[in-house]
Amino acid sequence: MIEVAVVSGKGGTGKTSLTACFAVLAERPVVADCDVDAADLHLVLQPTVESTEDFSGRSLPAIAAEDCTRCGDCIEVCRFDALSWAAGDDGPPKLDPFRCEGCGLCMRICPAEAIVMEPAVNGELYTSQTRVGPMAHARLGIAEDTSGKLVTKVRERARLLAEKDGRELVLIDGPPGIGCPVIASIAGVDLLVIVTEPTVAGRHDLERVVRLAEHFRRSIAVCINKWDLNEALADRLTEEAWASGAVAVGRVRYDSAVTAAQRAGRTLVEHAPDSGAAADVRAFWDALVGVLAAPAPGTTTAGDQADDDQNAEGSTRR
Ligand code: SF4
Ligand code: SF4
Repeated sequence: MIEVAVVSGKGGTGKTSLTACFAVLAERPVVADCDVDAADLHLVLQPTVESTEDFSGRSLPAIAAEDCTRCGDCIEVCRFDALSWAAGDDGPPKLDPFRCEGCGLCMRICPAEAIVMEPAVNGELYTSQTRVGPMAHARLGIAEDTSGKLVTKVRERARLLAEKDGRELVLIDGPPGIGCPVIASIAGVDLLVIVTEPTVAGRHDLERVVRLAEHFRRSIAVCINKWDLNEALADRLTEEAWASGAVAVGRVRYDSAVTAAQRAGRTLVEHAPDSGAAADVRAFWDALVGVLAAPAPGTTTAGDQADDDQNAEGSTRR
């Protein structure tokens, strides 16, 4: 099984549009939307949800009213001010779940042993069907911060779908940035496709993601979206991408057909297959297929990947 993750240094670079095009162009893929904080691949692939599962990324304290002696110790020790007395209520302290970090200190110090930590549901994991194949995706609750764990769950689900359906490719729409959910998205992938734009900010963001990929020793390919907005900078980004060891560098021109496809809720390669940008995307995808069929010399070994995956897993546990 081959896993390809599409990421970007920041949102709005065209990462999801490109992933959706790849999903259409690929042969029998499984799609994983790992941008769980702002999932939007479903807007284009329009999945039919087949199963929904609660996701619990953290635990919250539950206080047994009958055991609580109202000593107030738990309120004292909570440095996040997540526990307080409710006015006019002579019951146990009340919890503000948005303040609670789930550290469990209140449970440990409660002299009456009235507190237990219970899993809290803070998201949903979906298994769906789309016109291009199965899809694993998720929704994280508002203000929840366990996206790295949920990304790991989405990827596990996508791998299971691929095994069950005999599919060889898992295509991951990763989150933007370089934080915990990105690390969870790229751990162990065979190829990391980094989408950027020819701007000063785009160059800076590209550098950050390339450094992250180097740290985890992932093979990278770079796509410069709207390259013709600044040809000189696009040339510089291309040179720098090759110098960073990219196995493929693609360029997609600015094209109003992209916006038209988004408005229609379709992928570019379906909505405007004859457009220049669609031709660019197809050319880049063909290059990636070639790379995946014949891994470049120096590509990470399976042993290296196992080590790195362990490191990445560790850094996503929170
Ligand atoms: S520490 Fe335990 S007994 Fe004391 S107020 Fe908190 S829950 Fe109640
Ligand atoms: S689990 Fe930690 S953060 Fe949450 S209420 Fe208890 S002490 Fe406060």
